[in-house]
This record gives sequence, structure tokens and C-alpha cells, in this order.
Amino acid sequence: MVARLLLTFAICRLIVTVGLNVEPAELLRLGFGGGHVSTERHDLEAASLDFGLMARAEASPLVVFHPSLAEDVARAVRAAYSGGFVVSARGHGHSINGQARAAGGVVVKMTSGGGGGRVAAEEGYVDAWGGELWIDVLRRTLEYGMAPRSWTDYLYLTVGGTLSNAGISGQAFHHGPQISNVHELDVVTGKGEILTCSEGQNPELFHAALGGLGQFGIITRARIALEPAPQRVRWIRVLYSDFSTFTADQEYLISLHDRKFDYVEGFVIVDEGLINNWRSSFFSPRNPVKISSLGTNGGVLYCLEVTKNYGESNADSIDEEVEALMKNLNFIPSSVFSTDLLYVDFLDRVHKAELKLRSKNLWEVPHPWLNLFVPKSRIADFDRGVFKGILGNKNKTSGPILIYPMNKDKALLPWRLVMTDNVYNDRVTADGEVCVCGTLDMIRTIKSQLPPDSISHIMKEIIALLLGQWDERTSVVTPDEDIFYLVALLRSALDNGEETQSLEYLTDQNHRILEFCVQEGIDIKQYLPHYTSEAEWAGHFGAKWDKFRRNKMQFDPKHILATGQGIFKPGLIPQPRAAAW
Ligand code: FAD
Repeated sequence: MVARLLLTFAICRLIVTVGLNVEPAELLRLGFGGGHVSTERHDLEAASLDFGLMARAEASPLVVFHPSLAEDVARAVRAAYSGGFVVSARGHGHSINGQARAAGGVVVKMTSGGGGGRVAAEEGYVDAWGGELWIDVLRRTLEYGMAPRSWTDYLYLTVGGTLSNAGISGQAFHHGPQISNVHELDVVTGKGEILTCSEGQNPELFHAALGGLGQFGIITRARIALEPAPQRVRWIRVLYSDFSTFTADQEYLISLHDRKFDYVEGFVIVDEGLINNWRSSFFSPRNPVKISSLGTNGGVLYCLEVTKNYGESNADSIDEEVEALMKNLNFIPSSVFSTDLLYVDFLDRVHKAELKLRSKNLWEVPHPWLNLFVPKSRIADFDRGVFKGILGNKNKTSGPILIYPMNKDKALLPWRLVMTDNVYNDRVTADGEVCVCGTLDMIRTIKSQLPPDSISHIMKEIIALLLGQWDERTSVVTPDEDIFYLVALLRSALDNGEETQSLEYLTDQNHRILEFCVQEGIDIKQYLPHYTSEAEWAGHFGAKWDKFRRNKMQFDPKHILATGQGIFKPGLIPQPRAAAW
């Protein structure tokens, strides 16, 4: 083993000093203790495609590497760093535009055997491998009666893949995105170092990697916050014909503090067929719905979707709790659809739709998806110009269109935060009000700096609240408003002769939507962004761009990581010639 490493070291030095040309596969095979190297054609082809089926096949890697441990990932990156080739982590390949590709380099296939991670139930976290699927994390944590707090709608995505974006669903208004529910990461940087990072340890890397589009390192472990798992879910859908009533109700629901729903989403129905489509199967067959029966005269309908979790302790009061929340809403009275199911079945709901589509050969088709964060102040303009304008009734059942709001700054009520320069202290005043004293930064870092048993109950509650906030220090970008909407056009292109369902038509509509936002000055941010020029990326990141570039220089100076995102060209910045082994 030592002799192999020395040989590898010598070869790497030769490569970097005289430019010796060694194939990545050879280089990988030389140095490796664990993991599996594949140059099989079908592996390479599979690694060049993704869920979007939009990327072209010429972007194939030369090698697909299956690591067993973080150390294997680190060796692959060190080999790439020395050998001058690119390397991308691939989670479950559920990107749309080839983001996990590594043209001419190495794809590190992160998906694992599905253990789900190591649960520390008392401490309230799970340590999960970066390539773990969220469904496996859920199954594992449920064995301990626990579950992560923030989700995506679909669970066959990897921990590293969603944390590299944000990870959002109907719980985000309450718990923040998944990136706000992580205590610690292990990251293999672009230099091949394995670094543990958190609020208190290597915080620049921690914040950079969260929402970092894979640019700063490969996440090999994430410590994910857990809560006691609910047992059942009451799942309700109601319809609206008036957009402003619909959004007012959504915004009201996400503003509630104590008694609230656990999940708030919604979707747009621009076509009669859509109401019974794959994400809406909930309506049928027991509740077939006809738009015409709701008196909208063929116009656009909006569906609010909410859930309330419950267990044995509150099973008796669930009806009352739901009723109390629903009575303040202004939906179409005859349009209430309610069902009740196990928590795990609710979270795994999209997989059932996937199985149905797979059985009809409708899953592995091109997906020209477009996900936008739209500021609250312009969502009505977006409705007029896009849902009622560009899409109108030209969107023939090609996929769901989600719309739901999230809020960045959740008030820290019922606590009053008192900021002082240097003192951390919490106390209850004579009239029962809790004052927490300390700078916000002190409060944010307190968990990592104080021994757990010295943190008061009040402080723990506040830390939990702060964990659930969107954190400006992460790499993800959102509109410059406290409340913003996710609008997700999740459409499938079909080759069935219908022009309005063709890839060209849907792609053109996406361009028109983006152009409309530019023309109208609607300051949207793409979620799961896709751009092709540096100027566009700079525009996307806005005020965060300089920091994003500085982080890149620090953590991936040769620009070898996640080149499929198309943000930085490999090797833009010449580095001192030294081997990294
Ligand atoms: P991949 O596509 O494999 O990789 C995505 C990017 O992350 C690539 O650049 C890759 O290099 C990088 N990457 C992968 N693993 C790592 C790692 N361990 N460390 C560092 N970088 C890494 N998103 C939501 O937020 N909410 C949703 O509800 C939601 N629903 C979805 C439903 C479906 C059916 C699909 C297809 C996607 C959905 N997404 C959703 C989007 C999804 O979160 C992203 O596409 C995510 O990147 C997919 O994860 P993946 O594991 O497949 O990543």
C-alpha cells in the first residue's frame, strides 16, 4: 500500500511538473484503498444524463467513481487537483440541466447502500452520508420516533444534492429550508482536504457549502436536526378563483405563530385536465372535480394545500384544531377536500405519483422545469402576466405549477431580544416577559461555543427558532423581500404530436416568462439556477457574487468542482505547481 501511494505521489509530481499525460481512471486506480472505478460505457452514459434529460450526451465523464468513505472522495479530489481534471459529485442525478456532470473528468457517485445514517435521538440529530437518499434518512430516524423537520416534496433526492441548493417544501415557512436545519458538515474541498465545519468551526466553508451548488466541496456528512416524528397527517385542499384572496390566505397562514398548519403549499390550475394530474391525484377518483362546476368560466383556479400533523396525544382535538384554522380562510365553500394518512405516506406522496408515471412510460421524458423565487410585492403582476397571460389556457396538462410563500425573518416572539455589546444573559422580568440579552451573532454561535448543559431552556428554544431562519450567510440567493413565493413550473415534454407539449414549445414559454420578468422589472431569483454566462451568474448572485468568487478561490482554487453548473471555467486561476498527495 505504501509503495502504491509513493508511486502515485511520484506520478502526480511528474504530471504537475512536466505535464505527463495520465488518464484519470489510471490515476484513480493507482492511489485507491476503497471505492470502485468504472469506465463502463453504460455507467459513463448514465452519469452524463439527469432527470431533466435536457443535457447533451457529449458531456460524458471519463470515469465514474463509487466511493465508500469520505477518504475515498478526498483521494479522488486530490487526484483531480494534481492531475488537472474536473470532478463532480453526483447525488441522485435529479438535476435538470446537467449540473452533476463532469465532462471529460470524474463523476463521484455518492449514492450509498441506504443505511440512512447514525441517529443520536437524545441529542436530536442524525449524521447522514452526503449521498444518502432522504427517504432512507426518514426510514432510519423513524425507528427512533424522530424525523427531520424540513423536507422537499420528493424524497428520492440526496442529502448533499438538496443541501447544495436549499431544500424547500411546505414546511419551509415554519422550519426554514433544509440548509437551515443542519448543525455540521464534513466537506471535501477542491484541494482534497476533509474539513468538518459548523457555525463554530470553519464557518466560512459551512455557510459557503450550504446552497453552494457544489462549488466549494463535496459534502460527505451532514448532521441534520430532528424532531419527534408525528404519526399522522390531516391533509386538506381548498380552491380559490381569486388570486389575491388565495395569496392573502397563504400569507395569513405563514404569519401565524402558535396554532398553525405544519405545511402550506398551493398550486395553479390553468387547464381542466390539470386538476386530476399526477400531483393532484388526491382529488380523484373519490373526488373528481370539474373546473366548470366551480363557476370560474374557464379561468385560472388556485388550490391551497395544508396539513396538520398529529399523534395519539392530540388525536381527539385534531378536528377542532383544523376547523379553527380553516374558519379564517376565504376559499370556495364547496371545494374542501380532506384526507388522513400516515406521516411517512404524506412525505413520500410524490413517489407514488412517480410509480404511476413510470408504469405509463411518462417519467423518463424531458423536463424543462423552471423554478423561480418571486418577491411578494410582485406576485400579483406575475399572476397576471404568466398564469393568466403567457400560460393562459395553453398549458395542456403538462405538469403541476406550484406556488407557495415563505418568510425569511420569523419574529422571535414571544421573546424580546435585547441586544447588548458583549453580554449574554437571559432572564424573566417581573411581568413574566422573557428577555434574552446578547448580540444576534452571539446567539447564533452560542450552541457551538457553550457546553450543551450550560445552555438554558430559553436559549435552546431560541436556537431552534434561529435554526429555522433563512440565513443570509449561506450561498443561496433569494429576493430582497422578507416574504417571497416559490413558483415551480414542473412540466414534462411529450413527443405526442401536440405542439403545446413539445420540448421546444415549453422551453420557449420558459424564456418568455423570464423575459417578461425582466421587462416588468420583477426581481425574481431562479431556484436550482441555470445560466450559461458569467455575467448572468454575477447577476443571479448580486451582492453575494464577490463573496461567492472569493470562497471559490479559497476552497476550490483550480475550479475543478461541479463544473456542470457552468459557473466557473476550470483552471481559470493559475496555481503554484505542487502535488497535493
Ligand atoms: P444531483 O442532481 O445529483 O446534483 C445536484 C448538484 O449538487 C450538482 O451540481 C452536484 O455536483 C451537486 N452535488 C450532489 N451531491 C453533492 C454533495 N454530496 N456535495 C456537494 N455537491 C453535491 N427541490 C426542492 O428544494 N424541493 C422539492 O420539493 C423538490 N422536488 C423535486 C422533485 C423531483 C421529482 C425532482 C426531480 C427534483 C426536485 N427538487 C426539489 C430539486 C432537487 O432538490 C435538486 O435537483 C437536487 O439537486 C437533486 O438532488 P440530487 O441528489 O439528485 O442531486
